[in-house]
Amino acid sequence: MAMVEFKDVQKYFGDFHALKDINLKVDSGETVVVIGPSGSGKSTLIRTINGLESIQSGQLIVNGYDLASKKTNLNLIRKDVGMVFQHFNLYANKTILENIMLAPRIVLHRDEKENKQIANELLEKVGLTSQANKFPAQLSGGQQQRAAIARSLAMKPKCLLFDEPTSALDPEMIGDVLNVMKDIARDSDMTMIVVTHEMGFAREVANRVVFMADGQILEDDSSDVFFKGEPKNERAKRFLSNII
Ligand code: ADP
Ligand code: MG
Repeated sequence: MAMVEFKDVQKYFGDFHALKDINLKVDSGETVVVIGPSGSGKSTLIRTINGLESIQSGQLIVNGYDLASKKTNLNLIRKDVGMVFQHFNLYANKTILENIMLAPRIVLHRDEKENKQIANELLEKVGLTSQANKFPAQLSGGQQQRAAIARSLAMKPKCLLFDEPTSALDPEMIGDVLNVMKDIARDSDMTMIVVTHEMGFAREVANRVVFMADGQILEDDSSDVFFKGEPKNERAKRFLSNII
């Protein structure tokens, strides 16, 4: 079953055509990596999936909901589709534990004891048990990003979107974050759509690689084909040779 399906989607910012004729289907449980030069529309593409950006025409179905329809309640989509941002976006005035417990409490009305138990299990999973009662600013960037991932996981989403989750991190912190993401990709049946230029990650866990440029999808390959260096599109081939 498709978790996400774009059909002939167009997105404009005023006169600027940011997404052009997007056709993309992501099945439940798939891990898809999106790459492409800066300004190519990668963030815009994944932000449309949980309704952070609207589309102007075409069809976008996410988890069975029609995102082109104004009647669709975006809160219902965001319950099942989480997002991890480049700059973490943790609540600065709440502890790490509280950051993780907040949405399940308010949105899912999860029982407080169960909520705490799940939060502690997630803290352990991302290696932050000892940081539970600290505030975000007291953590390194890598720790904050792992906390943000735990916060998303606490909602038990069906789909998780990542927008360059390691781009703001110092090199020595990237590995821990990628390891957490690899574990999720391997051990869960969650759908993951990841904008990243971490090609090691893509090679290890992605089912597919999508290449964007100028608001278009120019290449959509299984990662096997992509990493044999056989992208059909010349720009995709050149881009790949520059980042590997
Ligand atoms: P990427 O994530 O691939 O770097 P983006 O999706 O952020 O690219 O942006 C794609 C294009 O859309 C860029 O030219 C950017 O300037 C433009 N854009 C993004 N967001 C907005 C906005 N809110 N208003 C106007 N233009 C935007
Ligand atoms: Mg971006």
